[in-house]
Amino acid sequence: MKYVDEYRDAPALTELLAAVRRRATRRWTIMEICGGQTHGLLKWGIDEALADVVELLHGPGCPVCVTSAEAIDQAVALSLRPEVILTTFGDMLRVPGSKQSLADARAIGGTVRAVYSPLDALATAIAHPQREIVFLAVGFETTAPTTALAVRQAAQCNVKNFSLLTAHVRVEPAMEAILREPQNQVQAFLAAGHVCTVSGYQSYEELCRRHHVPIVVTGFEPLDLATGIAACIRQLEERRFEVENRYGRCVRPEGNVVAGQFVDAVYEPCDQVWRGLGTMPQGGLRLRDEWQTFDARHRFALGTSVTTDDDRCRSGAVLSGRIRPPQCPAFGKECTPEHPLGAPMVSAEGACAAYYRYHTPHPLTMIDACRETDR
Ligand code: SF4
Repeated sequence: MKYVDEYRDAPALTELLAAVRRRATRRWTIMEICGGQTHGLLKWGIDEALADVVELLHGPGCPVCVTSAEAIDQAVALSLRPEVILTTFGDMLRVPGSKQSLADARAIGGTVRAVYSPLDALATAIAHPQREIVFLAVGFETTAPTTALAVRQAAQCNVKNFSLLTAHVRVEPAMEAILREPQNQVQAFLAAGHVCTVSGYQSYEELCRRHHVPIVVTGFEPLDLATGIAACIRQLEERRFEVENRYGRCVRPEGNVVAGQFVDAVYEPCDQVWRGLGTMPQGGLRLRDEWQTFDARHRFALGTSVTTDDDRCRSGAVLSGRIRPPQCPAFGKECTPEHPLGAPMVSAEGACAAYYRYHTPHPLTMIDACRETDR
């Protein structure tokens, strides 16, 4: 398949990994930001193939994992109101809130619908004018343009029964927070190609300069990932700290300017609570005042609350790369994909789910059996 097979060329991958091993004079610590990249690295065995020259830390770039319990609690409460149909991406249904998930809410009578896009949620609003349709809007810079578009279309079509419960997150403040940690170990980043497709990578130059880290933009196929790691190692060995684009088939320095303008017109950066990581300064997006009528928190007068995650779950340490999932005492015991304690075990992009799937010998569960079919 074009754009896939050429990036899964096994002999080329073997050769590239061997070149990385020859080039490295020591073991370097590299963090991949995106959960999709984490799954790729484990699925293709790149982490193990380079284990003696690269320590890979897994970053917080899984939007399902970092959505706060408070946002889930608010979505649950809305879904239980008789006038509301709560819509969101299917991945979000099993993410635990402080007491219930949206799947739990549906089991006790809440109205929750999985949709493929916020525009499907808008279509639901048009089809059900007597109900209030709320879309739980999660995701990084990749999904924010489509939720911004849905809001603008709702305004243009005068759809009054549509609103967003926003929990969008921004990747760059998270990278900055990780680099500022006194015990930070990250020496280079693999930046998420799909995020940079939207937002570009020019703003990373300042991060590289201030923190002396190379940032290499790359994709998700094995050759993309290995090429990104090779570029990081080359820079580290040469003591260079630059942004490098290794995903040129999708990413331009300035990103997708039109999508960026959509986002800027509808949203503004705000401080945001990330699950397990606390409040991230400027780490989220909220609707601008002029779009407040589409803000579910405003429309339904939702207050803020302090929520706590399950204290057995060490998702904060996993998402910031301080521990690997198997170091969590609950991993594979109380916490499995069928009975997750935390979001990183629920999400298709979660690091805990990745380790459970690719690095743990376990009997094939029902969920795994389903996933096997789409490998
Ligand atoms: S294994 Fe489960 S309990 Fe442990 S950090 Fe991951 S999601 Fe949380």
